[in-house]
Amino acid sequence: MFCPFCSEEDTKVIDSRLVSDGSQVRRRRECSKCGERFTTYEIAELVMPRIIKSDGKRDGFVEEKLRAGMLRALEKRPVSSEVVEAAINHIKQRLRASGEREISSALLGELVMEELRVLDKVAYVRFASVYRNFEDMDAFHEEIKKLKKEEKVK
Ligand SMILES: [Zn+2]
Repeated sequence: MFCPFCSEEDTKVIDSRLVSDGSQVRRRRECSKCGERFTTYEIAELVMPRIIKSDGKRDGFVEEKLRAGMLRALEKRPVSSEVVEAAINHIKQRLRASGEREISSALLGELVMEELRVLDKVAYVRFASVYRNFEDMDAFHEEIKKLKKEEKVK
């Protein structure tokens, strides 16, 4: 790491700590030539799998698209944005942890549904009705019946 002040190559780490819940390392460095101090952040580069769409085309994972789809399903529902962000992070973690280079958009849809199912039943049904391509209306009604049963059990 070159010193940003004098471009000296030799800098030493004088402090190192975990930030952002441990997902980043913040380092204070000091230049051995000019003595200036500066901060660097280190983040593990984790590659998200590419998404295989239903028509077979490959697309990069776009977090904004995922968020937009979830927010559409959650419109006017009593779910805070912190909770939504946590769900998005959870989905991303699962995608990375899968170790796959490519996953189908259907699988991504399933992961989103799993999260929504826990967050808000109405949002789940909204999302599922679009993504799961229910074969027919019977399948859709079955799903709603199952949810109603779960509600009663609670
Ligand atoms: Zn320097």
